[in-house]
Amino acid sequence: MDERRCFLCGRNGAEDPLDLHHIFGGAYRKKSEKYGLVVYLCHRRCHIFAPSAVHQSTGQMQRLKRYGQLKAMEDQRWTEEDFRREFGKSYL
Ligand SMILES: [Zn+2]
Ligand SMILES: [Zn+2]
Repeated sequence: MDERRCFLCGRNGAEDPLDLHHIFGGAYRKKSEKYGLVVYLCHRRCHIFAPSAVHQSTGQMQRLKRYGQLKAMEDQRWTEEDFRREFGKSYL
């Protein structure tokens, strides 16, 4: 695997440890893992606590899910409908 970097800001986790974030959580967590829809994020700044962090900002979460869907569709050669079947809805 490449050197770990935060997906959002590119920091390497030296000051703020990197967490593995499942782009599609809850019931779809396992599938996120299966299809490689996981990213590293700075624990405080980008993942959990800051106002713009993924778990605080709906917009940021939405962007990440859109990215995850496009990645899955490309990697698996899925249509939007295929994605919807696997992950319950489309984020495009
Ligand atoms: Zn997370
Ligand atoms: Zn970051």
